[in-house]
Amino acid sequence: MQLLDGKLVSAKIKEDIKQEAAAFLASTGRRPHLVAILVGNDGASETYVASKMRNCELVGFESTNIHYETHITEAELIAKIKELNADAGVDGLIVQLPLPAHIDPDRITEAIDYRKDVDGFHPVNLGRMQRNLPCFIPATPYGILLMLDHYGIDTTGMHAVVVGRSNIVGSPMSILLARNEKPGNCTVTLTHSRTKNIKEEVQRADIVVAAIGKKHFITADMVKEGAVVIDVGINREVSSETKSGYKLYGDVDFEHVAPKSSWITPVPGGVGLMTIIGLLKNTLEAAKGSVYLK
Ligand code: NDP
Repeated sequence: MQLLDGKLVSAKIKEDIKQEAAAFLASTGRRPHLVAILVGNDGASETYVASKMRNCELVGFESTNIHYETHITEAELIAKIKELNADAGVDGLIVQLPLPAHIDPDRITEAIDYRKDVDGFHPVNLGRMQRNLPCFIPATPYGILLMLDHYGIDTTGMHAVVVGRSNIVGSPMSILLARNEKPGNCTVTLTHSRTKNIKEEVQRADIVVAAIGKKHFITADMVKEGAVVIDVGINREVSSETKSGYKLYGDVDFEHVAPKSSWITPVPGGVGLMTIIGLLKNTLEAAKGSVYLK
């Protein structure tokens, strides 16, 4: 078993991004700028946004966090998004999900200018990804591809089983792994809560991507000897053992699955750190106009 080490890979790529941001500043007189909008007081969302902002600072980006109370209306939020769309000083714009129930996440996602949609959730970016055209790829799948690429894992011809079909992880991951690209060229099975015999499906996988949101859902008996195992899950449990007051668990039972796998991501220290990298790279590409001309 070898570890797909998110700490190591993210630190290395962050150093490259930092240098590119410095070169961007030298040639344009400004820094790449990411704006994140957060609505309400969800603890996990606050932690994610704070981490995104902190990482922007670390690589020399400008970052702005706009925090609204839960009762902001959808119309008010869309008005702010339109203002930021029109602001030439903003390169990337993200709205942290989930949103309060009275706000439709699809309308919010579609209100964002697709050229600033560094989360890659806008239908234009998803459509372009499907057609293998330049676009912003959703940060988590993008980070996973960068991780596989870093370790030189050739997925060509592999049978990939993705567990979970969300718009932000499972579904785009299945599209990307099937593309005629490296990493990619997999034969992909996309599974979900209505899949029959999920254990048998996962057992056939050369590479498993678990994005379910259920602690230790993937157990050792489900995994083929020598499989590559990518654990996207972040399950928070209250704990008196840690300073933060909670502990993170993946969707994979790491302790028992790791000895059977060829490569595996830990939680924490795996995909979560690479997701930040996906976001930073998209923001840099948005600033440079390398995906959509400015
Ligand atoms: P969603 O809740 O949007 O989707 C979960 C998916 O898992 C659904 O497609 C659902 O199926 C499927 N599922 C649920 N139960 C089962 C089951 N018993 N058998 C098979 N499939 C099942 O989650 P996300 O994709 O947003 O996130 C998944 C996990 O990844 C979460 O723990 C989240 O916190 C984490 N995450 C981590 C990130 C990172 O950076 N590391 C980034 C984003 C998410 P159905 O569609 O049928 O309901």
